[in-house]
Amino acid sequence: MARRLIIPFTLFMLLLAACAPSSSPTLTSETQGVAQQSSNTPISTAVPATHTPPESTNTSQAADMPLPEATETPTAEATATSPPVLSPTQGPTDTPSATVTPEVIACDATLTPAQTEGPFYTPNTPERASLVEVGMGGTPLLVTGQVLNQNCEPIAGAKLDFWQTDDNGEYDNVGYRMRGHQFTDENGNYALETILPSRYPGRTPHIHVKVFAPNGREVLTTQVYFPGISDQIPDGVFRPDLLARDLPPDESGRRHIAFDFVVSN
Ligand code: FE
Repeated sequence: MARRLIIPFTLFMLLLAACAPSSSPTLTSETQGVAQQSSNTPISTAVPATHTPPESTNTSQAADMPLPEATETPTAEATATSPPVLSPTQGPTDTPSATVTPEVIACDATLTPAQTEGPFYTPNTPERASLVEVGMGGTPLLVTGQVLNQNCEPIAGAKLDFWQTDDNGEYDNVGYRMRGHQFTDENGNYALETILPSRYPGRTPHIHVKVFAPNGREVLTTQVYFPGISDQIPDGVFRPDLLARDLPPDESGRRHIAFDFVVSN
């Protein structure tokens, strides 16, 4: 009987001995597996490790966009190129800053060249934004722009005194027809309603202007020319860098040109 009990007992003990070592290795093999995974997949684990600190503020976006952000180095480039702007979080916030820069680039801070005032300037013109009078012929024209300093900052309250020929190429040297002055608004903007002046002997079509910027700045006397017209007629005074830029016609179909005057600081 004793032998009959001893044999099963020993078999049982052997089974226990066999099971005990095999169960603990499975646990260690799992931890080893994790350790191996962490060591075998350093990139995948390293990427979230390095990204989680900054992206943790982005919550769901960070979880949704880890791969694009990791591959889109522009995010890092954008933050590098625009450190003063909101670099911390989303890449998309960098694009608006890019839309701001063109506005800054729009002004190259080059002083507007001066030109002769010619023999037809008359002072003390009436203040008016429109030189168009009832019954006046000619091609309607809208001229808009800004008066800026060399830092491309708008100058408010600058006086612009315009004069030009009529549709027949004639100046009014007695009265104030086709003459008038106005002041820039708080953003340095002006808008002149007029007609397209005509050429006269020796001159291509142009508008004369004097810019009286405040704070004792030197008066700028110059002329503005029309793309596609003024540059098609020989004229020794004409300068291409004084050509206005064409804008889409306004709602009434009127031709719209723009010219910014840059004066000294
Ligand atoms: Fe003239």
